[in-house]
Amino acid sequence: MDYLLTEEQKMIRELCRQIGEEKIKPVRSHYDDTQEFPWEIVKVFAESDLMGIFIPQAYGGLGYGILELSIAIEELSRYCGGITLALAGTALGTFPIFLFGNEEQKKEYLPLIARGQALAAFALTEANAGSDAAGIETTAVKDGDHYVLNGTKQWITNAGEAEIYTVIALTNRIRGPRGASAFVVKKGTSGFTFGKKENKMGIRASATRELIFQDCRVPKEDMLGREGLGFMVAMKTFDASRPGVAAQALGIAQGALDEALKYGRTRVQFGKPIASFQAVQHMLADMATQIEAARALIYATSRMYDDGGRDIGKESAMCKLFASDVAMRVTTDVVQLFGGYGYMKEYPVEKMMRDAKITQIYEGTNQIQRNVIALDLIKEAASKKD
Ligand SMILES: Cc1cc2nc3c(=O)[nH]c(=O)nc-3n(C[C@H](O)[C@H](O)[C@H](O)COP(=O)(O)OP(=O)(O)OC[C@H]3O[C@@H](n4cnc5c(N)ncnc54)[C@H](O)[C@@H]3O)c2cc1C
Repeated sequence: MDYLLTEEQKMIRELCRQIGEEKIKPVRSHYDDTQEFPWEIVKVFAESDLMGIFIPQAYGGLGYGILELSIAIEELSRYCGGITLALAGTALGTFPIFLFGNEEQKKEYLPLIARGQALAAFALTEANAGSDAAGIETTAVKDGDHYVLNGTKQWITNAGEAEIYTVIALTNRIRGPRGASAFVVKKGTSGFTFGKKENKMGIRASATRELIFQDCRVPKEDMLGREGLGFMVAMKTFDASRPGVAAQALGIAQGALDEALKYGRTRVQFGKPIASFQAVQHMLADMATQIEAARALIYATSRMYDDGGRDIGKESAMCKLFASDVAMRVTTDVVQLFGGYGYMKEYPVEKMMRDAKITQIYEGTNQIQRNVIALDLIKEAASKKD
């Protein structure tokens, strides 16, 4: 399908395809096996200016938008959804600064991220607060010119590897949704340490750890926005980042379909390539149709955002919901299409199936996305006159 991409957007896609083919494909199973952090590939992203793709040029980035970020994440995830998360997780950790930072904060942090000198991470989730983000218990208590953070964030992407963390903590327990605030916390700050690296089903090249705050003093200048805006920062961040999760899912699904098309033409049973069987052809057709529909939704939503339509909570949730369900269905079907070989680690498709699963879970599970979409629909309907 022709999405009327600009020459620059096509160049970004081509660049990412080349990085994927030449740099990521040869090493993806190594990082999947070892769970090492893929610094050699992060260096390639940085040298190609991809880390600052959506950061304004004034802060050292390329100055593109969510569509270009989505295209890059999609294309790279076609080769490895886990390695790509170093970039996508950094984007997630950068959005709060990009959207809510003041000039000093932007000048301090965005150029470091754009140049690839620092990765970023975003920390909301805790052991007792996943879908119910309002249940967070990490506190930030004002003490003179500082806030003192205490608590533990769980399952934070890029944790331990990133230099810059945007953290949501309670500044006023009794104010409910208005009681949280967002802070930038630098790695190395006294009282800020990491838990062990999690051993995961998929996206194993991505580092996931706890952030542990014990009397961690953060200068008051490192608060994003003002006191009480924490959940607003989180929600607006997710509006901007969910098309990226969707793009990760889309890339994984496309990568799996690419493999299915290769395999289907070469695997011979009953004297014929399996792609000549109508049942297999229908699987391929269904996969390709779902993938194209996901791509259309993601590109349209990203364009809406870049055109200034910042109220895209519903569309952003739709992208994430639809593309991640597509990724799970497609990768499961591709393993099926490979038969027993699909179950073996010699082929990349079992990894793709494992990698796809997380896209239905993080940045809000797909049940939560449905809640977001439905609430918005009902609100829209109620505001219309009959
Ligand atoms: C690999 C990985 C990386 C992550 N990276 C980050 C990160 O960088 N930063 C960060 O802050 N967090 C991160 N997370 C956390 C992630 O966002 C949460 O796991 C997710 O939001 C779900 O929370 P939970 O796991 O506590 O599940 P729960 O909230 O305990 O949900 C359990 C089940 O109940 C369902 N459920 C809960 N509430 C409802 C409801 N109201 N209606 C219907 N169903 C419901 C859920 O859909 C789910 O199926 C990461 C998680 C993983 C696994």
